[in-house]
Amino acid sequence: MTPTEPSTMAAASTYQQLRGHLAALKLHAAAEALPGVLDQATDQGWGLTAALERLLAIEVDADTARRLAGRLRFACLPTAATLEDFDTDAASGVDPALIRELGTCRYLETATNVLLVGPPGTGKTHLAVGLARAAVHAGYRTYVTTAADLAARCHRAAIEGRWATTMRFYAGPTLLVIDELGYLPLPAEASAALFQVISQRYLKTSTIITTNRSVASWGDILGDTTVAAAMLDRLLHRSVVLHLDGESYRLRAHQAAADTLRHSVTGNTRTP
Ligand code: ADP
Ligand code: MG
Repeated sequence: MTPTEPSTMAAASTYQQLRGHLAALKLHAAAEALPGVLDQATDQGWGLTAALERLLAIEVDADTARRLAGRLRFACLPTAATLEDFDTDAASGVDPALIRELGTCRYLETATNVLLVGPPGTGKTHLAVGLARAAVHAGYRTYVTTAADLAARCHRAAIEGRWATTMRFYAGPTLLVIDELGYLPLPAEASAALFQVISQRYLKTSTIITTNRSVASWGDILGDTTVAAAMLDRLLHRSVVLHLDGESYRLRAHQAAADTLRHSVTGNTRTP
């Protein structure tokens, strides 16, 4: 035996124990990075503190990414829309400073609600999803649904005896987005469910609602003016209301495409 062998064996066993500790603590990213970090430490003459810092930084980064992925999965964002690709110049009636302020997510700290009102195609869903995405990235538990989905889920819950659990589910997220209120009139049971969801969240957590109907016609959507008034009281008490009343962005895109087509047909001269 050469004199170096016992110490090499001891080092190998310490290394295995260290890997074992990392695995037992479920620090999988650190366990995987361990050989690389140790090699790098030797090569570059890092001290113990620097090597430990590097190893744990790798685990912290992996944990942060895992949590973000979990929040993103839970949020069920229906599109890839972001606040950054929302063109405030194209959205008439929208104050860019207000969108920037909402983008900071500060409104979530005061359980402020956001109501996005406007005709189809004006960017309500885009803004709501963009705000939801910003909230997810800022670390808030967020869930996006539509009024129709919420109604259907509550209906099933009532039949299957899971009402209380379902209500707790909708009370949970720091931000709940309810898209497309008013596209379909809601049956009485669905209005009651929506009212309970809004009431539970009132002054505790934020709700974003998008609707194509003015607040004045919510009695028709909910089939009951008393429920509508009570719900609006809670929603609007601490809220930001955005009216997106410009020309539809979808129509605008079609218009642009039609113009291009017309230009190519008429050889760059606009038809009168
Ligand atoms: P709404 O929910 O009001 O019916 P959407 O948010 O679905 O409208 O918008 C329709 C389409 O137009 C989407 O693809 C959306 O990304 C796009 N859009 C609408 N407004 C804007 C905007 N101001 N900037 C960028 N894209 C927009
Ligand atoms: Mg929409």
